[in-house]
Amino acid sequence: MSVATGHLPVDVLLDYWLRDSDAAATDAVDEHLMQCDACGHALDELVALGEGVRGAFRAGAVSAVMSRAFVQRLAGQGLRVREYHLAHNGSVNCTVAPDDELLVSYLEAPLQGVQRLDAVTELSLEPGVQHRLEDVPFDARTGEVLYLPKIAAVKQQPANTLRVTLLAVDAGGTREVGRYTYHHRPWPGDAPT
Ligand SMILES: [Zn+2]
Repeated sequence: MSVATGHLPVDVLLDYWLRDSDAAATDAVDEHLMQCDACGHALDELVALGEGVRGAFRAGAVSAVMSRAFVQRLAGQGLRVREYHLAHNGSVNCTVAPDDELLVSYLEAPLQGVQRLDAVTELSLEPGVQHRLEDVPFDARTGEVLYLPKIAAVKQQPANTLRVTLLAVDAGGTREVGRYTYHHRPWPGDAPT
């Protein structure tokens, strides 16, 4: 991360706030925040959005899930947000631009009666390796789940396929409620090195 060339990108601030940064990154953010009121204000805004959002994030190299309202507030603050909508059991061709700050997808799913929702992700770059996000937030009323991969990692990925499976979990067991496929391509001109 370079903090010398401008303000802190939102994903860097998010990682910092979620205490997901490594020591060097944390030091760099601390140093920048001491000199920059604009970024301090941006961090205050994130904190003001509530501790609940922190709880909505699930660590791991892959992803986070949060509410539509939170995304709209971030977009309203001028963040560059790239959004994809996936129909139930749908797929999408996706990419990320170098200056995008958040990558959000909306997954349609039948969620009536669902008590707890887990998401299992598998990337074609790591065949057979599954990451399970437990108890992800969802809105049963709108039948919608938001999925946010870590954008910094996605920007470095070569072409790949990501599969996300949503699982409803209750006392009776686990059942699949939706399955989604992302066909990712790097931004044109960003040849993988
Ligand atoms: Zn700044």
